[in-house]
This record gives sequence, structure tokens and C-alpha cells, in this order.
Amino acid sequence: MSASLELGDIFRAAGPARRAAHAGRLPLQQLKVMSAIEHCRTAALGGHVAACGDCGHWRIAYNSCRNRHCPRCQGNAARTWLAEREADLLPVGYFHVVFTLPARIADIALQNKAVLYALLFQAASETMMTIAADPRHLGARIGITAVLHSWGSALTHHPHVRMIVPGGGLSPDGQRWISSRPAFLLPVRVLGKLFRRLFLTRLLALFDADRLVFRGQLAPLADRRTFLRYLAPVRGRRWVVYAKPPFAGPKAVLAYLSHYTHRIAISNRRLLAFNENGVTFRYKDYRRDTAHQQQVMTLATDEFIRRFMLHVLPREFHRIRHYGLLASSSRKASLARVRELLKVIPTSAAETPEPEPVMPPPCPCCGGQMVVIQILPRWCQPRGLPPATDPAGGSP
Ligand SMILES: [Zn+2]
Ligand SMILES: [Zn+2]
Repeated sequence: MSASLELGDIFRAAGPARRAAHAGRLPLQQLKVMSAIEHCRTAALGGHVAACGDCGHWRIAYNSCRNRHCPRCQGNAARTWLAEREADLLPVGYFHVVFTLPARIADIALQNKAVLYALLFQAASETMMTIAADPRHLGARIGITAVLHSWGSALTHHPHVRMIVPGGGLSPDGQRWISSRPAFLLPVRVLGKLFRRLFLTRLLALFDADRLVFRGQLAPLADRRTFLRYLAPVRGRRWVVYAKPPFAGPKAVLAYLSHYTHRIAISNRRLLAFNENGVTFRYKDYRRDTAHQQQVMTLATDEFIRRFMLHVLPREFHRIRHYGLLASSSRKASLARVRELLKVIPTSAAETPEPEPVMPPPCPCCGGQMVVIQILPRWCQPRGLPPATDPAGGSP
């Protein structure tokens, strides 16, 4: 049934046909992601055999692909990252601010991911730091953790940056912690205006420096006047910066981070069916009222994979970034200073926990200790082992 359907199943079944149909036209980066997801935890990646010292039961564990776009491989990365973030939390309120690109710009961004996603981060973070530093607003140096998400519901392309921001910052002389009001950080209209100005000015500079490409339907934009005409509507319209209600406390911040930071465009849990009709999955339609938001959609398999691939990030592109007090170069010192000002007594909880040693899980038959008895190179099957016993007890 659908309970165990995984993205890997879909890619293994439909990947070869897609590669054949688009031979020579799929970017290398996409081919790599497809291959990683198809081969994750299969013999192709090698692995090991673990056996029980008490009852002789053995099983194969294949290696995972560790690709950041693979839904199976997200959990571990998220746990490690989260433990580090927990150590950074301050005993203050936290805010959640979202910067979204207008649809016209998003279309350009799809063909210029590395350059324009970087600009989105830059314009959004600079907007926050600038308005926060303005004495008419907070008058403080704040810290930001920002995450890029490129998707809307149903895997559509909808690039936005979500920020987690502690409610306050350091005074310009570094001598005081300036707290924000409990339910208000910065005025979103002011943020939206500066964000629009910074983004559009730099977008034009990128155009003039010949850093943008335009393909397919957007090809005419390579002409400067056409490009400016295309941007005219977004120049005059409000750019929405969305400030969600503040988090209910540090625990809520962590829960949010674990949910969103290492998310990919679709999780295995949302996959419902895969057959000759295509791929059926759950999604949320935020335009409906809360009770009817959960929707189900079926897409032809190639279209499903195409949409998934819209969200593949450029190589080595950092989709989580830290700014201001949380910028990695000075985070330790900044946080120490803030804790001093907030009179927080350092506890051992603020230290990063030791990662747990990797041990095979206990024997499913008798609970005995499993030990690794063979390392499997890529594409290799185990050698010289008796037939595997069924841990459910169904063996002869
Ligand atoms: Zn994987
Ligand atoms: Zn056993």
C-alpha cells in the first residue's frame, strides 16, 4: 500500500525514461540528484552486513546517498544542525519574518538560481539589519537565521526566505541589550519598501554586468528596454514582507526549525500513490479555510519529477544563512556578550551534545548485539552467508 511509497521508488521506475526523453538536455546537477535518490540505500552504494552473535540472524544495510535533496537523508543532517542551534537560543522572544519574491522575479530566478537566490538572501538580510539599526525603529544590531525555500504548495516555484529573529539586539556601543516590544519587531511596510528597492537596484546591476541569462519564453528580456518594461509592474506594487506572530518560546523555535530548515520540496510522508495515472500526493492549499486546506493532487510522473527538480539547488549553495549577531564568524563572542547582558547563567545544556556512536540496532529476532561482519563495496552482494531468516518468524 501507499504507506511505504518513497520518492526513490518513483525515481527508480521513471528516472530512466525521463533521462531518455530529455537526453542531453538535463543539467548535470539534476542528473546527479536523480541518480542519488534512485540509488539511496541500494546495492549501488555499497553497505555492510550485520549479524547477531546470539542467534545468527543477519541483515544487509546499504549506504545512504547523503544528497541534500533526498528525503531519506534529511533526518540526520537536521538532528546535528538542530543540536547546534539549541545551544544558540537566547531567553528572549523570537520572531518569524518571511520575504517573498514577486512571481515575475521568481520566473527570472528559476533560470538564475545561484545569482538571484543569493540576492534574495542579501537584500532581505540587509533590509532587516538596516531597519533594525535605525534609531527610529529598534536602534540595535540584531541576529538572523534565514532559510531559503523555493516551493509553494503542490511543488510550484515560489521562492521565499524565512527568518528566525530574536526579539532585540545589541546597542550600537555593545553595552546594552535593547529588547523589542513583545509582539512587534519591525514595521513590515517599511521593510517591504527597502527590500524592493535593494532587490531591484541590484537586479539591474546584475543585468548590466551581464550576469543574468534568459531562456525560452524569457529570452526577449535580454534586451534592456524589454527587461525594464517587464519589471515596471513590480516596481510600483507593494512587496509583501510577512511577519508571523512571535513564537511561544524557545521550544517552539526549535520545533519550527526542525520542521522547516532541512525540509525538501516533498517528503515521503506526503506521497500517496504511484501508478499508471502518475503520482498522487497531499498538499496544503493556503487559500482555503483551515478545515479544507489538506488537498490531494495527481500529476503525470514526468511532470511530478520536473516540478521536484525545480527545487534542486545549485551546487554548494547554502540554503541556511546567519547574519548579524548570529553570523558564524562572530557568533560565539556575540552570544557570550548578549548572555552576559541578559545575565544568563551558562549551563551545560548550552553545550553541543556528543554525537551518538554509530552502532547497528539490536537483533530483531532475539535483541542480541549485531556486529558488522562484511563491508559491501558498491554493487556487491554478500558472500558465503546462510539464507536470511525472516525476523517476523516466517522462516521454515
Ligand atoms: Zn538518500
Ligand atoms: Zn539474534
